[in-house]
Amino acid sequence: MTDSKNKPAPRPTIKAVRGTRDLLPDQTPLWNRVEATARAVFSRYGFGEIRTPVFEATELFARGVGEETDIVSKEMFTWEDRARAASEKAQNLTLRPESTAGVVRAYIEHKLGETGQLQKLYYIGPQFRRERPQRGRYRQFWQIGAEVIGPQTSGAESPLRDAEVLEMLASLLDELGIRDWKLELNSVGNAEDRARFNVALREALAPVKDRMCPDNQRRAETNPLRVLDSKEEADQEIINALPKIADYLGDESREHFEQVKAALDACGVPYHVNPRLVRGLDYYTRTTFEFTVTTGLGTQNALLGGGRYDGLSEMLGGPKAPGIGFAIGEDRLILTLQAQAEADAAASGIAPTEPKLDVYIAPLGIAQNPAALKLARELRREGLSVEVGDGSFKIGKSFGFADKLARHIILLGEDEVVTNVLTVKTFSTGEQVKVNRDVLADTLRG
Ligand code: AMP
Repeated sequence: MTDSKNKPAPRPTIKAVRGTRDLLPDQTPLWNRVEATARAVFSRYGFGEIRTPVFEATELFARGVGEETDIVSKEMFTWEDRARAASEKAQNLTLRPESTAGVVRAYIEHKLGETGQLQKLYYIGPQFRRERPQRGRYRQFWQIGAEVIGPQTSGAESPLRDAEVLEMLASLLDELGIRDWKLELNSVGNAEDRARFNVALREALAPVKDRMCPDNQRRAETNPLRVLDSKEEADQEIINALPKIADYLGDESREHFEQVKAALDACGVPYHVNPRLVRGLDYYTRTTFEFTVTTGLGTQNALLGGGRYDGLSEMLGGPKAPGIGFAIGEDRLILTLQAQAEADAAASGIAPTEPKLDVYIAPLGIAQNPAALKLARELRREGLSVEVGDGSFKIGKSFGFADKLARHIILLGEDEVVTNVLTVKTFSTGEQVKVNRDVLADTLRG
């Protein structure tokens, strides 16, 4: 008996958390292509992959990225992890908002510097920041990044390394087919330059800071450099009139910057010096950079960012280990590639085609299901991509599914199973041929 009054109310559905996304199978091939290309390019430059945990002690980011940065002061997913046993202590943990601090922690923890070799490490993985979600800005996003780090004797401090990393990025973006990238380059100086610049900034900010937003007023006191990367619209006029780091670089930093630029010139990699590019993380010294694009990203036009961090290892209690690295926003890279592909399709009038499976096997009756699965197994082992229908489907339904999914269809009846002669229909030509089982794979590949 059914009684509509007693029917339980449908349960509310559960959605992906704000700022997170599912990547469905029609999207992941592009992600995989991007990652495969990045891996191939990185390995040509001698990089090896490192995989670090997605959560770390909160302290790592507080010390590494900096307490006063937007990331640490308001965007981290942090929790107190309860002790589960008397032997454990409660710990403050954080989902990683970026990976450089974790990679440098691993470098110190595994004493990679003791090899005396330059370490070239890359990673691909999700990062987490509680930002206001919008196109190109998510709370879980992916970064493809790399770090070059080592003891001073390994040459890690050389401007050649900065230029090599930048040249590699230019090659990677070219190989991926990103057309309109622009490299913005700056030097934020070494620790001494930064200290002198900080004094000058504080002085310049003192008479004007009261006219700025509360965040910038606080930064002007605690970490004036951070005022420079503020996005606060109303404060831009004041920020533009502040002193420029370029005027505070010492000889050493200036010489380093000149050498980076000379090596880029020699390689023919174009760049634009942007004196306001200080980047939102405290660990940067000397070279900082961003690659921006004009297609697909709107206001979130920074595709990747990075820089040199000669003091980070020591900030984390490790040995002196100069380094340079970058992180590409993979979500933004994909958005750019998709926007380019759409623009190309619109210009050529040809819609992009989806990749199809080699063949769809339609068993004619459920008695043929086991034989269909056996044939699919054999063809898959021969390297073909195969979908199997179901013997309960009417033939029209099988054709409907097959036409969307695959280039060929095989109708598998009792006769075909007995004689080993199969009928293959090709959708693009409408052609139908009978072939022997032993040449079937070649026919389907053709
Ligand atoms: P950062 O670690 O802040 O230097 O960021 C490096 C790159 O990661 C940026 O240039 C962006 O492409 C990307 N990125 C940073 N934050 C986000 C986010 N919330 N969503 C998507 N991509 C991001």
